[in-house]
Amino acid sequence: MNSGAPSYTEEIDQLETLFNAPDTGYLQAVPEAATGARDVVGRVMPVFKKPPRIESHGPARVVAVCNQKGGVGKTTTTVSVAASLAEYGRRVLLVDFDPQGAATVAVGISPHDLELSVYNLLMDRSIQIPDVLRPSAIEGVDILPANIDLSAAEVQLVGEVARESVLARALRPVLNQYDLILIDCQPSLGLLTVNALTAAQGVLIPLECEFLALRAVGLLTETIAKVEERLNPELRIDGVLPTMYDARTLHSREVVQRVFEAFGDNLLHTVIGRTIKFPDASVAAKPITQFAPNHPGATAYRQLARELVARGACR
Ligand code: ADP
Ligand code: MG
Repeated sequence: MNSGAPSYTEEIDQLETLFNAPDTGYLQAVPEAATGARDVVGRVMPVFKKPPRIESHGPARVVAVCNQKGGVGKTTTTVSVAASLAEYGRRVLLVDFDPQGAATVAVGISPHDLELSVYNLLMDRSIQIPDVLRPSAIEGVDILPANIDLSAAEVQLVGEVARESVLARALRPVLNQYDLILIDCQPSLGLLTVNALTAAQGVLIPLECEFLALRAVGLLTETIAKVEERLNPELRIDGVLPTMYDARTLHSREVVQRVFEAFGDNLLHTVIGRTIKFPDASVAAKPITQFAPNHPGATAYRQLARELVARGACR
């Protein structure tokens, strides 16, 4: 480490104490002199205040968590954001849209003995969403679970009428029950992901802090632009989230700087550090906010949840 600058975790700790500071607006910038808080690309770090409790739920905003590269933190982000927002009193529906079923496992459900999964919801008109919905092990979070059956949907959907909007149609009946619907996409840009992007108003892009990861993201933004143009004019990028950030390496910092040059303020202020606690939490099938509630990784995901509320990605 260099100079006397605070480390990333120290900064996060410092910020956590600020969140409870009284202020009026959500995106109120912290006066630099008062805190010195800056994000990893040097922007003034706003205070993301704890969102106010809400009295009634819905209508939900739908957000697709998307990146066609595997292992970048999509599932971790989906589950951790859901758990954090539930702590703030939001009702969240997770849609496991990956045949691997990792989000299903992560919230305590075994994908092997599902009677009905999101696959049946997509393919069988007689199945309605309440038939498939399950409460998860996290209070306030429900899930549409998935398993390997979903891998067949990619091919089978091709012959359907309005094949890109099957998920959007299926979700409609429950929009008023939730504040946020988060779709955990599979690592591909095929028809399932296009369905997720057609159902969504926003896309959250987790991006591993590594140069090869930057390449993949160009193709993703092209796909998002095409879906926006042809199928879903409402669609917007809610944010690009650097994951597996290592403050000790120049490499991590350079990658985030490049992302900032490419995405501007779509680069989120929140960054998720690389830590073994995430794989540990995966093994325990718990979100990090429950597995290690005071760990900087949990703190960072809570901050992300607040930043998403502040940016209008969730009520
Ligand atoms: P994806 O859904 O994009 O394939 P995952 O969320 O499943 O990615 O993450 C892939 C692996 O990396 C998992 O084992 C997970 O526990 C681990 N992981 C996720 N985020 C981090 C992080 N910030 N630091 C270290 N490991 C992480
Ligand atoms: Mg995943």
